[in-house]
Amino acid sequence: MQQLTCPKCDSKNYEIKMRDNHRVAYCKNCGAYIKNIPVPISEFIWPVGKKFKGKMLRTIPDWYMDWVIENFEDDNLKKKMIEWKKEKEKIQLKIWNEKITK
Ligand SMILES: [Zn+2]
Repeated sequence: MQQLTCPKCDSKNYEIKMRDNHRVAYCKNCGAYIKNIPVPISEFIWPVGKKFKGKMLRTIPDWYMDWVIENFEDDNLKKKMIEWKKEKEKIQLKIWNEKITK
């Protein structure tokens, strides 16, 4: 966990709450808002569809990922999925490389 300090009371005691697709840090001592913490793309919550609504991107199967990229209009969600596909390929490449070098 990173070090965060409350701007109001200087407490270092904080908690993180989920707000849609954001993590927000609040002071545990006085309740003040401290900051937004970026969520990694693998933990982006997919917001549409019957099957995968509310699921993190890293739990979504490849076939659905590819289906979205092929069938969605060019909107932010499609861009998000393309971004995730690239990221996922990078992660898999890293895992393979580690296996080879071990
Ligand atoms: Zn505080």
